[in-house]
Amino acid sequence: MRSSDELFDRAQRVIPGGVNSPVRAYRAVGGTPPFIASGSGSTVTDVDGNDYLDYVQSWGAMILGHAHPRVVEAVAAAAGRGSSFGASTPGEVELAERLCAAVPSIEKVRLVSSGTEATMSAVRLARGFTGRAKVLKFAGCYHGHADGLLARAGSGVATFGLPASPGVTPAQAADTIVAAFNDLDAVTAAFAAAGDEIACVIVEPVAANMGVVPPAVGFLEGLRKQTDAAGALLIFDEVITGFRLGLGGAQARFGIEPDLTCLGKIIGGGLPVGAFGGRADVMSALAPDGPVYQAGTLSGNPLAVAAGLVTLDILAQDPPYARLEQLAASLCEGLLAGAQAAGVPVTVNREGSLFSVFFSDEPVADYDAASRQNTNRFATLHRGMLRRGVMLPPSAFEGWFLGVAHTEEDVERTIEVAGEAFGESARAS
Ligand code: PMP
Repeated sequence: MRSSDELFDRAQRVIPGGVNSPVRAYRAVGGTPPFIASGSGSTVTDVDGNDYLDYVQSWGAMILGHAHPRVVEAVAAAAGRGSSFGASTPGEVELAERLCAAVPSIEKVRLVSSGTEATMSAVRLARGFTGRAKVLKFAGCYHGHADGLLARAGSGVATFGLPASPGVTPAQAADTIVAAFNDLDAVTAAFAAAGDEIACVIVEPVAANMGVVPPAVGFLEGLRKQTDAAGALLIFDEVITGFRLGLGGAQARFGIEPDLTCLGKIIGGGLPVGAFGGRADVMSALAPDGPVYQAGTLSGNPLAVAAGLVTLDILAQDPPYARLEQLAASLCEGLLAGAQAAGVPVTVNREGSLFSVFFSDEPVADYDAASRQNTNRFATLHRGMLRRGVMLPPSAFEGWFLGVAHTEEDVERTIEVAGEAFGESARAS
């Protein structure tokens, strides 16, 4: 028996579904998930000694690749100085300064330990600041697993086809309004119906949890205008796009400043960090300056901050974004050509280095269109590529992640392998 099979058996006895985060269970693609023993650069190695070229990259967090020597060194040095004090440390100030300097709309920022905490806290702050209750979100966008944000969510909620989640109270659900991504008319209608009750609009400026769906021209501008007109706050959830689409994230790429921004993943260099920040007047409503409460024993944890700081340093010293975008563009071109050669219709969406492949013969601009893709064909592609040593995200409702450790040779090999695997997908119904 393979070690991964054995571990998964043991895991299923003591961990629900055998995993600590649902999509990792591989239910959408079939098979036993490989347990990872180690990673280096663009490659991960499982406990049975199989190497995989990795396009999960911890869901985007590992933009520098696995076990980058400078990150490893920084974390080891920080651990030697003590791993948590429950008191402030110098690195937190430095990381906050870096975030304020890099991200256009952030004047003040608070560090937390996950993306979920960042979005949950930003929404509470928006409610406290405006004195309003309702939140407008978009179908297929995922903002972590806080109660009010799970309605028609992307990521695992989409993967498993759940409309929402039991355990979310009717009151929480009633305070969440859901519109279609890229549909400004639906936003206009929501504001017309409940404008003075809406505290905030929260959006992934490039949706990356229903597969990747870029914003239509004018969509983000429209959200900025409508929130301004209604006195609601605009929250960009840049947990994925932050430091991935550029040092200033999606807001710098598209030239739109939200009131609040949520960050995660890359800013922690692979350790648990999130952050939310924005307008100084809004952030000042947080305790201890203001009445909106938010806190965390491990917030600004010294190991996580050390990993984040060195990651942001490396990205700032030698910004990899033009190269990453070029790599992603060649990969997308190659994937499209491979699918066409195999006679299987696909739509490839890309924004910068963020991209995904939908088994669909129509453009994908929102969650309804993403839901019409052929997920069986994706599952076949995933299995075919895994067998050939390429690890894709184990769901059709996720983005694919490239990092600075990926090379042109990696991309060429992926295109070659995909060409073979698309042939298998074409035969799946
Ligand atoms: N927001 C977005 C856009 C995300 O992609 C995610 C996680 N993939 C989250 C929030 C939640 O982050 P975490 O899993 O760290 O709680």
